[in-house]
Amino acid sequence: MNKDAFVSGQKTLAILGGGQLGKMLLQCAQTWDINTKVLDPAADAPAQHLTHSFTQGALLDYDTVCSFAKDADVITIEIEHVNTEALAFLESQGKTVHPKPAALRIIQDKGLQRNFYAEQQLPSPNYSLFDNAKAVAAAITAGTLTYPFVQKSRKAGYDGKGVVLVRSEKDLAQLLDTDCVCEDLVDLATEISIIAVRNAKDEVVCYDPVQMDVHSDANLLDELVFPASVDNTIASKAKELAAQIIRAFDICGLLAVEFFVSKDGQLLINEVAPRPHNSGHQTIESCITSQYENHIRGILNFPLGSTKIIQPSVMINVLGEPGFSGPVVYEGLEACLAEEGIKVHIYGKKETRPMRKMGHITIIAPTVEAAKQKAKWVKQTLKVKA
Ligand code: ADP
Repeated sequence: MNKDAFVSGQKTLAILGGGQLGKMLLQCAQTWDINTKVLDPAADAPAQHLTHSFTQGALLDYDTVCSFAKDADVITIEIEHVNTEALAFLESQGKTVHPKPAALRIIQDKGLQRNFYAEQQLPSPNYSLFDNAKAVAAAITAGTLTYPFVQKSRKAGYDGKGVVLVRSEKDLAQLLDTDCVCEDLVDLATEISIIAVRNAKDEVVCYDPVQMDVHSDANLLDELVFPASVDNTIASKAKELAAQIIRAFDICGLLAVEFFVSKDGQLLINEVAPRPHNSGHQTIESCITSQYENHIRGILNFPLGSTKIIQPSVMINVLGEPGFSGPVVYEGLEACLAEEGIKVHIYGKKETRPMRKMGHITIIAPTVEAAKQKAKWVKQTLKVKA
């Protein structure tokens, strides 16, 4: 395939999913004048106005995905909950599909992911798989599963939904009655993510680790600190592992690898996402090449872009204020725009709801400390109301 034909529009890139990640991917595709089409179930998907052709339809429906992508040359995703059988069919018809459906099938299922890491001898928490809550309870009674542990629904969990922390008998009422993974509760020092990128020539580059601080109320990300304040040994080990994992999955484009760093200094894989990821938003302003541009480079087999940091940053989500639902109003936006290094991204969701992800802000500064200070001010200043 002549990949250069993508630039200035002779070939088409199809993207499954038209949310905010799709929107930012399209912003990069536009820079190179790449012809794109997008499929998303929502009529008002954030990405719809940035693509040459928008189709409203279900990402999990075989026929919808096949017919949407049949005239595309390369197919990629911005969300992993898509029909992998359709992707496998498209691949069998000679389309280039990144990530590969075989890898995506494993990644969609937290149980298969844990099995994959075990087979590959990659470090991740000790775990067992169960069919339902009754089987989990029986394992506790039999003494084969001990407190504390974390129960995770195998499929379709995101932003901490589908994750239950079970410390003692009194938490058993919260157990999810579904196919699940139960794994050791890691005594966390911190959580980091590495974004790895690979192309079909098997070149791999990794961004420096970003630290992910979780919001105590909503199990949503509170802020990202970039680069993470972990020692160099952990940082280089995490990059090495991320490169190993992207190759093991045979993925082109991006793979975000989330790690637990335990208090006793272990690095354990939590989960991966084979697409642009929240933990890479800050690469737009903080790095020479953004994760979005590198995804496009990776899937089109172009040389990969430099991941070097230009300036450190903190990224915060713009979340709907509790107590407000309805047409959105951004209070304090002008004050934020008046400050140096505050980069506001509004996703274009018309309605706010408590804790709904409405946008993000990257604060770049000469030092991580200065970015953190400014981020604190932004959190007090910008409020999403209705
Ligand atoms: P999701 O896929 O919904 O983002 P995760 O599996 O990443 O869910 O879990 C959400 C959060 O729960 C993690 O970021 C971490 O803070 C906590 N968590 C999950 N698994 C463990 C674990 N085994 N030990 C300690 N904390 C965990």
